[in-house]
Amino acid sequence: MSLMNKILKDGCHEFQIEINDQQVQKLIKYKDILIDWNKKMNLTSIEEEKDVAIKHFLDSISCLKVKNVTKGKLIDVGTGAGFPGIPIKVMRSDIRLTLLDALNKRLDFLKEVCDQLDLKEVEFVHGRAEDYGQLEGHREQYDYAAARAVAPLNVLVEYCLPFVKVGGFFICQKGPQLKEELKEAKKAIDLLGGKPVEEQVVKLPFSDIEHRIVIIEKVKHTPTKYPRKAGKPSKNPIR
Ligand code: SAM
Repeated sequence: MSLMNKILKDGCHEFQIEINDQQVQKLIKYKDILIDWNKKMNLTSIEEEKDVAIKHFLDSISCLKVKNVTKGKLIDVGTGAGFPGIPIKVMRSDIRLTLLDALNKRLDFLKEVCDQLDLKEVEFVHGRAEDYGQLEGHREQYDYAAARAVAPLNVLVEYCLPFVKVGGFFICQKGPQLKEELKEAKKAIDLLGGKPVEEQVVKLPFSDIEHRIVIIEKVKHTPTKYPRKAGKPSKNPIR
């Protein structure tokens, strides 16, 4: 058994999430494409096989440990090289995935990955979250939004909550500063129609890395003025 195969199987076992051989093979193929494309464009600073398996794949899959996403539509906002969206889609083929990023070059990479991994029902959106959050086909259309390493929480909720339907959830991956970020973002979360319903510390298998995930439920509609124009949320976060 290859190192990656072992890490993915044992890691998922630790998360109590089932993973089959086909899913493992898809993730290994994803790693190969990532490493190959990373030679010609800046996709990730994490290249060691073991690190890709733990810090990208298991970290993305850990979202499912906290919120067991099944079916429905999920948008990964600021997906970059596909995290956490693509590993979630590999594990849950019945979700309809939208990958959104402001950098077009990354979208080319994501299309190649989804094509080679034979992932169906994936939509690729090149643009800013602030713009798409106001568009009819995207605003309040998703059962779930997810994001990792995109912006401070008070900014990120303005990017993500407008996409989520009332009754849906925003799955937000954060580092050790989550408590402080939640305090800072309290007003924004409330104003945008969200309510934090769960917070978990996730220890990544085979490492001493601890991450945090907060689940924010969409409990009421986002006022039409949000998200504000591109650039405004980061320049002038809701306080
Ligand atoms: N989520 C990925 C991960 O965890 O590996 C990528 C993280 S990377 C640090 C942040 C990504 O968010 C970049 O690809 C950037 O282009 C995208 N991004 C930042 N602000 C954005 C916005 N307002 N709208 C769309 N994409 C955005």
